[in-house]
Amino acid sequence: MSYNPFEHALQQLEKATTLHKIDDDLYEILKRPNRTIEVFFPVRMDNGQPRIFHGFRVQYNNARGPYKGGLRFHPETNMDEIKALAAWMTWKCAVVGIPFGGGKGGITVDTRQLSRGELERLSRGFTRALQDVIGPDKDVPAPDVYTTPEIMAWIADEYSTSVGAPTPAVVTGKPLHAGGSEGRDTATAQGGFFVLHSLRKKLQLPNNARVAIQGFGNAGATMVRLLTEAGFRVIAVSDSHGGILDMRGLGMNAEYLARTKKEKEFASGAYFDGTRWDAEHYQAISNAELLECDCDILIPAAIENQITHENAERIRAQVIMELANGPTTPDADEILARKGIIVVPDILANAGGVTVSYFEWEQNKHKEHWSKDVVFAKLEEVMATAFDHVWDIHKRFQTELRTAAYIVALERVAEATQAQWGLSPNTLSSPYASKTATRK
Ligand code: NAD
Repeated sequence: MSYNPFEHALQQLEKATTLHKIDDDLYEILKRPNRTIEVFFPVRMDNGQPRIFHGFRVQYNNARGPYKGGLRFHPETNMDEIKALAAWMTWKCAVVGIPFGGGKGGITVDTRQLSRGELERLSRGFTRALQDVIGPDKDVPAPDVYTTPEIMAWIADEYSTSVGAPTPAVVTGKPLHAGGSEGRDTATAQGGFFVLHSLRKKLQLPNNARVAIQGFGNAGATMVRLLTEAGFRVIAVSDSHGGILDMRGLGMNAEYLARTKKEKEFASGAYFDGTRWDAEHYQAISNAELLECDCDILIPAAIENQITHENAERIRAQVIMELANGPTTPDADEILARKGIIVVPDILANAGGVTVSYFEWEQNKHKEHWSKDVVFAKLEEVMATAFDHVWDIHKRFQTELRTAAYIVALERVAEATQAQWGLSPNTLSSPYASKTATRK
């Protein structure tokens, strides 16, 4: 069976609408993106030949503010994935209450096969291809998997050149020297850390809880550092090549791992040859083994579709904290709920990134520069408030945190979408809507 993340995103939405009823016709709007954009554009490669690239931008909903969402440069990126990610951005911005809608974009490309010059020309070419549809008050991209602050700086520069004025607010996640915000580089993990802090108090998790983290990029590697500094026992990490496990905790080696990842592009860089670790207590594990290891908190921080009906039964963690977008499928969610495993959903857990993106956008618009202390104090307030709200709904509706977060988002997006289209409840009529829909 082929995996379609957008269908999963819709199933999650549908589940929430069974508890938080919305008008059928409004539901028909919310389950579709406002606009999907597909572009094909040439890039001159180092050998002088042009190559055509395939890119996407999905503008899902802008009722609460400009479309907002990252750009993913990945060999398997496709329209269904981008549509799902754009929908999740819509709900995410609403859960944390920032004035953005949801969007997402990407290019089907393996960036490891490009030179730096080719990557720059690709990023600039993509910006030109999207020129008419992005803008600081229209649609604001950001980094995602395999896109970096440097790429964001190229996008800002290319866009500014074409509109004839410096426009840093067209994109967030830029380096500091190009108008980036203090703290944006670590914001996703930092936001997740604040959420985990709130959850730990609710569940009375021990200070030295054992944590396994899949993915050693921006989100995952920063989370390893934050948790290690806070006294958690990070026992397993991985990247796309595989992982390592040490039941004693990686401790100070977290720093060493980060260094070797940087130098060798391999999180488990302390392996001699990519298959073996150089210390007796460490064990090489696969990504599948990492997900099933004996830990208290599991943090998927890589890609979608990692926890499915095939492995959910074997997950041993008490808490799953989704720093990645869409790592858990709806059928896995049901198994995890039955097992009593608490899943902190992506649209809450990783919303720190877009929250600090919003702070960056605000700073650019007002030509300000906030200190890291100010940024993190504001971030903590946003994340803690969002968590408390979701937790209250979770208790009130006796439902999992994911559905609770969707209910919070749905309330806000539904109201704004009705206002945007000048509609009041029950006044819409669409050829798609069926009053006898199976939805309860
Ligand atoms: P990144 O490119 O910095 O890192 C991705 C990591 O995932 C790398 O370590 C890579 O080796 C690993 N990976 C890739 N494919 C894998 C596989 N098949 N199995 C195991 N590991 C694999 O990306 P990132 O920014 O850290 O994003 C990671 C996740 O967090 C994504 O789902 C992204 O959408 C989500 N996210 C990121 C941000 C952000 O601000 N960067 C914000 C919100 C959500």
